[in-house]
Amino acid sequence: MDHFLYRDGALHAEDVPVAEIAAAVGTPFYVYSSATLLRHFTLFDDALSWGDHLVCFAMKSASNQAILKLLGDAGAGMDVVSGGEYARARAAGVPGDRIVFSGVGKTVDEMRMALSGGIRQFNIESEPEMRALSAVATAMGVTAPITIRVNPDVDAKTNEKIATGRKGDKFGIPISRASEVYALAASLPGLKVIGIDVHIGSQLTDLEPFRMAYTKVADLTRQLRAEGHEITRLDLGGGLGIPYERSNLAPPLPTDYGELIRETVGDLGCEIEIEPGRLISGNAGILVASTIYVKEGEDRQFLILDAAMNDLIRPAMYGAHHDIIPVVEPTPGAEPAKYDIVGPVCESGDTFAKHRDMPAVNAGDLVAFRSAGAYGAVMSSEYNTRPLIPEVLVQGDQFAVIRPRPTFDDIINRDTIPEWL
Ligand SMILES: *Cc1c(COP(=O)(O)O)cnc(C)c1O
Repeated sequence: MDHFLYRDGALHAEDVPVAEIAAAVGTPFYVYSSATLLRHFTLFDDALSWGDHLVCFAMKSASNQAILKLLGDAGAGMDVVSGGEYARARAAGVPGDRIVFSGVGKTVDEMRMALSGGIRQFNIESEPEMRALSAVATAMGVTAPITIRVNPDVDAKTNEKIATGRKGDKFGIPISRASEVYALAASLPGLKVIGIDVHIGSQLTDLEPFRMAYTKVADLTRQLRAEGHEITRLDLGGGLGIPYERSNLAPPLPTDYGELIRETVGDLGCEIEIEPGRLISGNAGILVASTIYVKEGEDRQFLILDAAMNDLIRPAMYGAHHDIIPVVEPTPGAEPAKYDIVGPVCESGDTFAKHRDMPAVNAGDLVAFRSAGAYGAVMSSEYNTRPLIPEVLVQGDQFAVIRPRPTFDDIINRDTIPEWL
């Protein structure tokens, strides 16, 4: 249930007709549903209600401040992976003690920024990073709370580009070396070790890899405690997948995930943190585009849209599937057509779908990419000097532009020409 449904023959975002937003802001644009964002956050929050916990939204999946404020006001924490994300979360009113700092290459400037602004914890990914944080915190006369991200050597069985928990991946420290690295952490000034962090990948459609990873984390918790470390918090990462194809089997539910967490680490008395991104934002957003032309190719028809790979890169980057539907509900039994659905960018990779069956579409018709709320707008660029497209937030029967479309002048005037030219 995602609040993007046909009503009286027209696709709605909650109670607002999508065509009405298109008329107001122009295409292409992203639109998010507040109700869906809140519903998904609440599902996770409820799934962990058996114990002390914090759901930290992985804001790299969707980082508009309106979204952060909506979730933050509902009690969510934030998982940030850069100084820019930290600043955004703070600007959206999220308190520092609800922000966790992840990422494999935090710079000393980023560490300083988070330590002076307030931070719940740093998830440390290597010994050099740990030493750097120790030096920064000591120089500032403060203590930095840390977990250490362990790499459990578990294959998340997901897309190669978003698997992060196998031996050869760049993330965390090998779990086999945890003893040694925790001992180092305990010996360094300016750090307080509070727990363990793990994140094995994204778009997981099976709970089994989580079970393997969390079981290893539970064993490690007991071992580290026996070695004298106080482990009071477990950050179990994000990664729960969403159904990108409606026809496909649904991935596991947050409720089952919460139950799995209770089964694997629930008896340790630790505060639980999770960092879901995609499952909160993915199905809470759609991308709406107009059909510019329907072009007859040699052996196929091309649907040429005004959205392109710079607006939604997932198909080009991950070979990802997005359901693409007409904004006007097709009449039942309408003859389906087969299209290659493409954008106007000068790359063959600018193809959203090949040989896609969908109801016949004409030039001027609006279409919607479903499940585009996560890793959509945040990964967009101005390639081909195409302006970043607007983001719109809907709540009930109201909508607001939460990021306007820049003008060409806005874009062009960012360049400066050296005086010697
Ligand atoms: C990307 C990421 C997440 C979120 O992953 P989703 O698949 O969007 O839930 C959480 N934690 C870390 C450390 C990440 O890198």
